[in-house]
Amino acid sequence: MADTLSFDAALAEALSFLPELGMSRVIRPEQKEAIYSLVHGSDLLAVLPTGFGKSLIFQLLIRVKQILSSNAACVIVVCPLKSIVQDQLTEASLMGSTATSLASAILQDVENGKYQLIFASAEEILAKPFLSSLKKSGSPLHQNLAAIIVDESHIVETWAGQRSTKKGNKSVAFRESFGNLGELRSFCKQGTPMGALTGTADQTTQETIRKVLCMRPDCSTVYASPNRLNLRFSVKKVTKDVQLKELKLLVNLIKEDGINCPKTIIFCNTMNEIAVVVNHLILELGRAVFYPEFSTVQDNCILAIYHSNSWQSTKDQVLAEFKTNGVKRILIATTALCMGVNFPDVRYIVNWGPARSILDQHQEAGRTGRDGKKSHVIIIYHGQQVGHCEQEVKDFVRAKGCYRVAAYKTLDATIEPLEPLHDCCSYCSTICKCGGAQCDGTDLPFESGMQEESRGENSNAKQREVTPEDRVT
Ligand SMILES: [Zn+2]
Ligand SMILES: [Zn+2]
Repeated sequence: MADTLSFDAALAEALSFLPELGMSRVIRPEQKEAIYSLVHGSDLLAVLPTGFGKSLIFQLLIRVKQILSSNAACVIVVCPLKSIVQDQLTEASLMGSTATSLASAILQDVENGKYQLIFASAEEILAKPFLSSLKKSGSPLHQNLAAIIVDESHIVETWAGQRSTKKGNKSVAFRESFGNLGELRSFCKQGTPMGALTGTADQTTQETIRKVLCMRPDCSTVYASPNRLNLRFSVKKVTKDVQLKELKLLVNLIKEDGINCPKTIIFCNTMNEIAVVVNHLILELGRAVFYPEFSTVQDNCILAIYHSNSWQSTKDQVLAEFKTNGVKRILIATTALCMGVNFPDVRYIVNWGPARSILDQHQEAGRTGRDGKKSHVIIIYHGQQVGHCEQEVKDFVRAKGCYRVAAYKTLDATIEPLEPLHDCCSYCSTICKCGGAQCDGTDLPFESGMQEESRGENSNAKQREVTPEDRVT
């Protein structure tokens, strides 16, 4: 009990600096439980949805540990992508922590305990020089290490080649290092805990993470439902020949509002689809593709493209511009954009065909509404685009009822439609009778005309009357 009290007191002290940063002093019970587990040396698997504040866990862990032990504390955070490292470094400096990326640091400084947070890729951390620094039992790094944290840990499954394919074979490992992270512990002080953070992990993925990272059997699991109440789901099946017409509403939004149009990411599954979508938008928008309209400079184009083959400098530039209130308003991207990228104010995610797996679908949806404001996930697809999808995705887009329930049920069995129903999904809004101001769908530019096409998939849905106020074009 005394221990719990001192933990609470240390946490309260650690939190006392947050108001100076304009943040609330209150943390969520799941964050507290996660910090408690790590402080007490338990391994941790934290499955917490987008926007939950997962990084606050290791930020506060360092402070609590320092207060409790009166010694310096540091944490190694393994990140799968460079763009995540950059975001984390920025956040750490805002929080007043000393932080570095292993790639740019002088190893001796890291070993001597100069940094509280050390961000690294799996490959960097498993490189021999770092491991020998980590192993030196007299070094501050070895002594002060409070935990190894693996961020976005669900990718352990894909990148370590652990997810079984349909035929039961293991998929090819293309980032084997992730599968070797479990060995790290043998270089650390005995009892150093391993923490895995993720926004999306079903039971299978959770088991894989525990196994690949060699987590102890008494590993604590902290879980919060992934159901994001500010997201509204629309699913629309169309025939291939008319799919591009669905972009008409986005084109009108851009034409009407220019650089004030809502930030939108269109996720495509192939480079070819990106090309088709981009070409169509350029053609339809004409001069409106630039801001100001008379400009023809590429930097003034409202559209931007992001995929795994883009130059790193182009990617960085696109991310930086899209994050701020710059000219870039519409991003056409592959799932390469997904992980750890933090844009606060994206209002629309358009899936040009659903993602291949339900976890990817949630990751992509996770890019929108991170500021907590009402945002939309719109899946527009034709039959061939679901051919390569996992069964869970097929079940989701072909659901005969609430799409929210269908999307989340593998992650949370207790999921229910959201009230009022018109805020839930494109199925629920057809049966909503609340009579509220937005019940008729007038604030849903992508959904006009949806009734006809969605009939085939959702034969139970009632026909909603389209009022003159609807943004039909
Ligand atoms: Zn619903
Ligand atoms: Zn309603």
